[in-house]
Amino acid sequence: MDRERKDKNPPKGVRPNYQMWIILALVAVILGVSYFSRISEVPEIQVSRFTDMVERKDIKKIVLIKNEEQIEITLKAEALQNSIYKNDLEKRPLGLTDAGPHYRMKIGSIDKFYEQYDQITKNIPREQKVDIQVDNRSDYTGLFWNVAFLFLLVFGFWILMRRMTGGGGPGGQIFNIGKSKAALFDAENKVKITFEDVAGLDEAKEEIKEIVEFLKNPGKFTKLGGKIPKGALLVGPPGTGKTLLAKAVAGEAGVPFFSLSGSDFVEMFVGVGAARVRDLFKQAKEKAPCIVFIDEIDAIGRSRGRGSMPGANDERENTLNSLLVEMDGFATDSGVIILAATNRPDVLDSALMRPGRFDRQISIDKPDIAGREHIFRVHLKPIKLAKDVDTKKLAAQTPGFAGAEIANVCNEAALIAARRDKKEVEMQDFHDAIDRVIGGLEKKTKIISPEEKRIVAYHEAGHAVAGWFLEHADPLVKVSIVPRGVAALGYAQYLPKEQFLYQTEQLMDEMSMTFGGRAAEEIVFGKISTGALSDLERITKMAYSMVTIYGMNDKIGNISFFDSKQSEYNFNKPYSEATAERIDQEVKKIVDTAYDRTKQLLILHREHLEIIAKELLEKEILFQSDLERLIGKRPFSHQTTYEKFTSANGAAAKPEEKPAEPVADSPAESKA
Ligand code: ADP
Ligand code: ZN
Repeated sequence: MDRERKDKNPPKGVRPNYQMWIILALVAVILGVSYFSRISEVPEIQVSRFTDMVERKDIKKIVLIKNEEQIEITLKAEALQNSIYKNDLEKRPLGLTDAGPHYRMKIGSIDKFYEQYDQITKNIPREQKVDIQVDNRSDYTGLFWNVAFLFLLVFGFWILMRRMTGGGGPGGQIFNIGKSKAALFDAENKVKITFEDVAGLDEAKEEIKEIVEFLKNPGKFTKLGGKIPKGALLVGPPGTGKTLLAKAVAGEAGVPFFSLSGSDFVEMFVGVGAARVRDLFKQAKEKAPCIVFIDEIDAIGRSRGRGSMPGANDERENTLNSLLVEMDGFATDSGVIILAATNRPDVLDSALMRPGRFDRQISIDKPDIAGREHIFRVHLKPIKLAKDVDTKKLAAQTPGFAGAEIANVCNEAALIAARRDKKEVEMQDFHDAIDRVIGGLEKKTKIISPEEKRIVAYHEAGHAVAGWFLEHADPLVKVSIVPRGVAALGYAQYLPKEQFLYQTEQLMDEMSMTFGGRAAEEIVFGKISTGALSDLERITKMAYSMVTIYGMNDKIGNISFFDSKQSEYNFNKPYSEATAERIDQEVKKIVDTAYDRTKQLLILHREHLEIIAKELLEKEILFQSDLERLIGKRPFSHQTTYEKFTSANGAAAKPEEKPAEPVADSPAESKA
């Protein structure tokens, strides 16, 4: 997993940020020029001083600047030595030469100044009088300051944006905000993952190999008039290897691979998402043939106008629209193939699935037992294993695990073994790693009173015994009363049957088994505890869905109130108050029946319950084989999936539909 994460970092230096440097240079120029224009400022004098200068005949040159209504005075070099000027000149900043001008003076108006000047010079002989030169100066400085101000404004704004968008990375700057954030893996930055690295998923691989063929050899398909698909949608729960598969496609085809997540399009500014989509496709077309991979496309591909207040999500819709437009816009032979992944295909806009867009849907399920074994093999390769490690057993003990979790187990096991200073990773380390992945860290310090521990032991033993003697309940994998994480004081883990359809009896057995914990507490202690919270939650959900969704109740009938198109903000119940009341009654009836059944069952098997609870208190963890040893084989002739798998060697290759969450029990303190 870690290897994957690293790959996701955008390669450095893909698109240097020229704009930033331009801005910095401009700022430097502005600062520099303003410095020099400050020092070029000449001291201003009043008419009296000017008159004085004229009378002393110190002036060499007078320039009248018409449009500024002021004059600039340059003194004779010998006059500059005079202390009345010297002081002024020394105060002036560096950089000014004796060339002048040395002083300036504001004049009211040009005509008035001429009059004034004539007045002052009336006693001076004609040939000694300094002539006034007239100049018209274009107002560069004023213009300059306007421009400078503008740039400073933009600069400040840019800094602000940079902060707001989190800074860093090519996408963080205002000028790059419309640029796609896709990470590019190309020749220098190659994807090294191949189909070898993807275990299981045979059907998906088959489909996707075709895409590799398209990219390698488009002519072969277009020659016969066929069209190359523009995109494929990988659908499946998180961690099942969708990203991995997409990368393998790129690795095998040897083409550039753009990887980004749907949420990368989403930004707080209007129009940014659409701009990013356009930029992404522009880049992709430049690099064609290539693959664009959009992870979690549901972030933008949510069906329009669903689950949203009117007008609330225009931005996302714009993004989606521009994605649709771009996908329509490129020719099928352009060599760009879009792969997208989601775990919620149900919320996707139907327009995305139209032919000519994501016309292939590849479904990727959680691996079945054979698939898990393959994945274990892939991830065990780099690990030093002891002889006792059996991948078949590992696969059997990890029902419902996705590839990511299996990778995690392998890594954890290696870490645990290292912590124990072992030379090789042993089966025990894997057991502990599995426990940790299921339940979080073992809480050695979590203090549980002996009394509480006894309750937990009987509770879990109740689940185990009830499941053992209920025909349709899933076979048990293991029970544990090692406190773990924040959520579980103990858990029982089951191996779900690989099935898609459940009959009423199966659901009833499942409910009864889930009641095992609470029933055992009541029978043994005569009191119940809060430890059954999550059990009760599951049971209640199941009972309500039996009545209102699956039409499994006589009184309510074959009616389903489930609406697959329902918006998330629908508060209307599609039934009357009277029906609502009846639903509640029927649910209660079902739940009560299940509970009574469990209680009867456990009273009947009280001695088994005691045996298992005592053993649990002693050993803390029991496996299926321990139970067989303690209370005999299950009285039903069903084969467990594991037995089936090991005898027929992979014949059971159907995906497990039901996630095998362990029936974890909440600690007493998690509820008030
Ligand atoms: P997704 O994109 O479906 O959420 P990823 O492709 O990111 O899942 O998978 C996460 C990790 O889990 C991968 O990097 C890989 O280590 C592991 N993994 C998942 N499925 C498989 C598989 N079929 N074979 C091998 N490793 C897998
Ligand atoms: Zn329980």
